[in-house]
Amino acid sequence: MKKILFAASEAVPFIKTGGLADVTGSLPLYFDREKYDVRVILPKYACMDEKWKGQLHFLCHFYVNLGWRKQYVGILTTEWNGITYYFVDNEYYFAGEKPYNNIYEDIEKFAYFSKAVLEALPYMDYCPNIIHCHDWQTGLIPVFLKTLFGDEHYYTGIKTVFSIHNLKFQGRWILNAVMDITGLPRQIFTSDKLEAYGEANYLKGGCVYANAITTVSRTYAFEITTKEGGEGLDGLMRARSNSLFGILNGIDDRFYNPSTDEFIFKNYTTEDAVVGKEKNKAALQKELGLPADQDIFLVGMVSRMTDQKGFDLIREILNELLMDGRLQMVFVCSGEERYEEMLRFFAKKYPDKVKTRFTYSEEIAHKVYASCDAFLMPSLFEPCGLSQLISMRYGTVPIVRETGGLRDTVEPYNEYEQTGTGFSFTNYQAHELLNTIWYAMKVFYDDKKAWNGLMSRGMEQNFSWKVSAGEYEELYDSLTDIR
Ligand code: ADP
Repeated sequence: MKKILFAASEAVPFIKTGGLADVTGSLPLYFDREKYDVRVILPKYACMDEKWKGQLHFLCHFYVNLGWRKQYVGILTTEWNGITYYFVDNEYYFAGEKPYNNIYEDIEKFAYFSKAVLEALPYMDYCPNIIHCHDWQTGLIPVFLKTLFGDEHYYTGIKTVFSIHNLKFQGRWILNAVMDITGLPRQIFTSDKLEAYGEANYLKGGCVYANAITTVSRTYAFEITTKEGGEGLDGLMRARSNSLFGILNGIDDRFYNPSTDEFIFKNYTTEDAVVGKEKNKAALQKELGLPADQDIFLVGMVSRMTDQKGFDLIREILNELLMDGRLQMVFVCSGEERYEEMLRFFAKKYPDKVKTRFTYSEEIAHKVYASCDAFLMPSLFEPCGLSQLISMRYGTVPIVRETGGLRDTVEPYNEYEQTGTGFSFTNYQAHELLNTIWYAMKVFYDDKKAWNGLMSRGMEQNFSWKVSAGEYEELYDSLTDIR
């Protein structure tokens, strides 16, 4: 039995601020339990729901040295869906209303967490073959392991995997401060190890010291080795490209299932998707106050509002699209004010064509996935992307830019061979997006058979976590079988 310990700063159902929590929460459930004993270690945040906090059992406590500080570590544990979870307890570090605060607090908080995880292993009586670290918050685990624990027999066999969920966030802070906080030797704060552009960089540390690096799609794994996509670390990614793997995320196909989804107006399967989606469309139009029109092209977007998601392109095309196009659009989005203002403007100018909901709501998001004909996702970059997977599962045809995971999961429509699952464009340019929407609209209005083919091919794709888990198992085997 191979022992794999996931170390992360969030995981569903315990604590979630973004997509990372979906991965670290869902993936462990899908490994072959006869062969892999996968457990998860997380911080015990004060802001976790009482429901979860109340279930934790005390396991042990000890003190950890972090630079010149000596800090309390409590280890608590619980089981959920047959998986063992550990929680690192320290009321000083994990207080507050949110898991993350400002970067200088987080830098110390996650240095502490990373050191505590390693020190906790002998107390937990669980010596993993692999520690699988996620994002910059756990980047120091491979660094501590190799530099401070390297000589201790207990730790010598442990391998590390470092997963990048979004390279934009790297955990960077003043070099001297990080030296002081971590107590790590001065020699490793160099440009071939922990230093980048004059700062200490946790993500870089993770990538330098881990035995293998993964990211969440093959295309993104390539893009981060390029100057355009490397966020300043492309040189390192190129240097480590032999140990860099792209493994796609999956979706929880029980939660995102149009035949059982409790949020949507009418359940449907691949067989009755056309009728089922019409019913959902009518109900959504009514709920949002859009004119009832069964035949109109309804385009949806469910997204965080940041430049990553392509809102600058959308701003450039909306007027022309809404003036000339026979379509309705619905935006369920939360994020930056400037994009909210932009969408408000268009919703006011075209009240019969655009509706907005500036909120984070699972319910309305699911209704949009179920009701729309097409889903818009013209991202500037996209490590993996889940929304396009969810929309395909609901028979909603994605319109995407060919970047990262979007490129790997949406096969462009080929009208000659009647293949493909969506529409896509290459360059981050407004007219390419606009032309792609016009093309999709033309197929929708002029060739219903082709459109229905797109829908059903999308619905038949297999984006289950089982596939991803299999690829991680292969990676774990390749690291642990070598002696
Ligand atoms: P990212 O993690 O970069 O935001 P993904 O496509 O990987 O993008 O995942 C986004 C997830 O968050 C999807 O499940 C999507 O439905 C959900 N989501 C995004 N914005 C909202 C919102 N305003 N309301 C409800 N769900 C949302």
